[in-house]
Amino acid sequence: MSVIKQEEVDSAQQFASDNYAGICPEAWSALEAANVGHATAYGDDAWTARAADEFRSLFEKDLELFFVFNGTAANSLALASLCQSYHGVICCDSSHVETDECGAPEFFSNGSKLLVAAGRDGKLTPEAIHELATKRTDIHYPKPRVVTITQPTELGTVYTADEIKAISAACKAHRLWLHMDGARFANACATFGCSPAELTWKSGVDVLCFGGTKNGMAAGEAVLFFDKALAVDFDYRCKQAGQLASKMRFLAAPWVGMLETGAWLKNAAHANRCASYFAERIAAIPNIRISAPVEANSVFITTSDEVLGRIRARGWRFYTFIGGAARFMFAWDADMERVDALATDVKACAVA
Ligand SMILES: *Cc1c(COP(=O)(O)O)cnc(C)c1O
Repeated sequence: MSVIKQEEVDSAQQFASDNYAGICPEAWSALEAANVGHATAYGDDAWTARAADEFRSLFEKDLELFFVFNGTAANSLALASLCQSYHGVICCDSSHVETDECGAPEFFSNGSKLLVAAGRDGKLTPEAIHELATKRTDIHYPKPRVVTITQPTELGTVYTADEIKAISAACKAHRLWLHMDGARFANACATFGCSPAELTWKSGVDVLCFGGTKNGMAAGEAVLFFDKALAVDFDYRCKQAGQLASKMRFLAAPWVGMLETGAWLKNAAHANRCASYFAERIAAIPNIRISAPVEANSVFITTSDEVLGRIRARGWRFYTFIGGAARFMFAWDADMERVDALATDVKACAVA
């Protein structure tokens, strides 16, 4: 048995990823409440039914939904369900499906090719969709069939409902389904105070992967099909991919806790507030540039390697895998005093 050394237990809050955070009280207490007695397995239980009803009322729609363990599976299986193996999926160059899923969308679709467009602040545009959809129409190239967008984007920007509608119009013009990777969907709802319905099916989204993990749950994403016909056999797809939870109630109950209490939106709003507060605090610092509009729960900064090295030397952790900028990501439990300490250190390091 290995013993964890004390110096490895770094419990001080970091802003490298919103996945560093723990489980929020609302999700935790729903898990405890579900941990009483026995319940039917494989989703045929009261918690799963209740969570599904919560989603239907939140989205004002009689939708079909499935719970899976993580976002890679949610995206990959959703995209695979919208495609044949000879189809193409249009996505943005910075999208998680392209850069961070180890080829899972191609794997689960048996070869559907991702067709990558250059994004603008992480966003796909109707023009880029049109260009990729018409670039090749011969039999030697995969036939475009789906568009996937990330909301909020990997750069922390948020599509407005109007932007989604314009993308949907481009999709309809080329007979493409519209999928949304909503690993941080709650944060997008908090940005504009838009209803979940407005940001999805009312604007033309066909399938949404709604992230629970980054919103404060231990694990779990919901795949929402706004057109029930598209969901046919998705349960088999989940099972084959190893994504059908036998004790489904423990994936479903935290959603009940999140949705019934409003924690999903409260958590996201807090995370967003911390990001904009941090951005305000560092906005005027010389040598520091905020490299993408701050619209959700992340702040990207560009500065010299020297300055980044000094920030790291003060104990702060962050990643630079997205375009070389340093990313600071605020979770549901971000502590304002810690955010202040980070801002103070960034300033000290930049002007040193
Ligand atoms: C975190 C994330 C996911 C899901 O990642 P998993 O590690 O597979 O849960 C999907 N899309 C985006 C944009 C993400 O940030």
